[in-house]
Amino acid sequence: MLLIDGEWIETDEKIAVRNPFNKEIVGYASRATREQTLAAARCAKAYESDLTAYDRCEILNDTAAQIEREEAEFVAQIVAECGASVKEAQKEVRRAVTLLRVCAEEARRISGEAIPTDVTSDRKKNLAVTLRVPIGLVCAITPFNRPLNQVVVKLAPAIAANNSVILKPSEKTPLSAVKFVKCLIANGLPARMVSLVTGDPGEVGETLVTCPDIDMITFTGSRAVGERIARSAGMVRMTFELGDSGALVVLDDADLELAADVAAKGAFATAGQSCRGVKRILVQEGVADRFAALLVQEAKKLTFGDPYSPQNDIGCLIDEAAAQAVEDRVDESVESGAKLLYGPPRDGAVLGPRVLDFVPKESPLVREETFGPCAPIVRIKDLAEAVDCVNGGEYGLQTGVFTASIHQAFEAAQKIKSGAVIINDGPQFESPFIPFGGVKKSGLGREGARFAIEEMTTVKTIVF
Ligand code: NAP
Repeated sequence: MLLIDGEWIETDEKIAVRNPFNKEIVGYASRATREQTLAAARCAKAYESDLTAYDRCEILNDTAAQIEREEAEFVAQIVAECGASVKEAQKEVRRAVTLLRVCAEEARRISGEAIPTDVTSDRKKNLAVTLRVPIGLVCAITPFNRPLNQVVVKLAPAIAANNSVILKPSEKTPLSAVKFVKCLIANGLPARMVSLVTGDPGEVGETLVTCPDIDMITFTGSRAVGERIARSAGMVRMTFELGDSGALVVLDDADLELAADVAAKGAFATAGQSCRGVKRILVQEGVADRFAALLVQEAKKLTFGDPYSPQNDIGCLIDEAAAQAVEDRVDESVESGAKLLYGPPRDGAVLGPRVLDFVPKESPLVREETFGPCAPIVRIKDLAEAVDCVNGGEYGLQTGVFTASIHQAFEAAQKIKSGAVIINDGPQFESPFIPFGGVKKSGLGREGARFAIEEMTTVKTIVF
């Protein structure tokens, strides 16, 4: 269904959404035309919200409460459309609820400052007051992984800041997005404040990013698409959350058991389809044998396969082609000298954890973003080599560093070029209260409730 000018519309042309594990059709999304996409943007732009901060806070809190009550339905939807396991989908729904509540609180805190102007020699006794006002129409484009959370991360701060929104979820996973938007409207969000369009990325996505009604694009997805949008969008505000080759550095003095546990969780959760996952592990030579053995032990504890089976820790990848691509990259790195320590056989879109050691630093498996359950160990001499290795790559979203030394932790935190450096935890660390975003090719701008609201508002000055 499309949501245009407050009305839900069915189109004749539909996209079948299939469960990636058993390939069964689990729902249909509408295929919007270019004209419908433009109309959806025009209508959302024309709508002027008169919601107060109190109203927005209530809507977001009530939506959170409904999702909490209907957790089982939201979980079932996520499992069906993206093949995440039930356990992972539960975590995703709970994260979405938390984020809605944090954005609800932040809706009440959007404020400005009072600035006296009698500071120059002309002694003008004015008072300037700044306000943070909505940026206008926010276009949110979201990826297939975590199909509920990726939408909430964008819509909750946009609504907290009183913007109109047009949402384009991934054509692979549009169903959770539709369910969430219905839930917002059921809890009081004016239906004309949000539009939703689904369809071909060329027809819908490209139309949106060049549409003159859009004031801001908030995009999460691949670097290639992000760069393409940046080239075509023109003068609008943009935040991009792109990929990473997420590094975890493990130094000689680290708590190895803890580091192996964090590495396994970071590398294999959501079948490795997470932008902030562990994608390469830089381990100091003296502890590499022991660490590799511990990591294999952790990998073997994980159950994976049928996403509908409630005991599985991990489900499957988004489709068989994605699993095959990851497998090919692993094979390529083995041909260039890496040693595969653990890697159960692939079955369709189900790819179990891969642990590799002696992976060459230059291998595409670690230099590029590999969106699958791989834990490649790269052996390094010391912290300096780890820093060079992290900084030498094209990405910089979040980096984890395990060490018992405050001096090494401090040095790593200062020298590593990354959106965040996490000491004694992994790049997967997340909290709705901290800024999230990358440097270099990992993105532009920040998410995280308060920080996203800053991006989605603009400063207006009133002088008395
Ligand atoms: P993707 O192929 O880049 O797609 C992302 C979104 O962009 C989808 O809605 C897609 O639509 C749309 N799109 C595709 N071509 C477009 C175009 N020309 N113009 C406008 N929109 C277009 O990414 P994905 O495969 O869904 O997701 C995986 C990627 O997302 C990974 O690289 C991952 O690192 C990144 N990611 C980053 C973060 C972060 O916070 N940094 C979080 C999650 C994921 P269709 O799906 O309909 O093609």
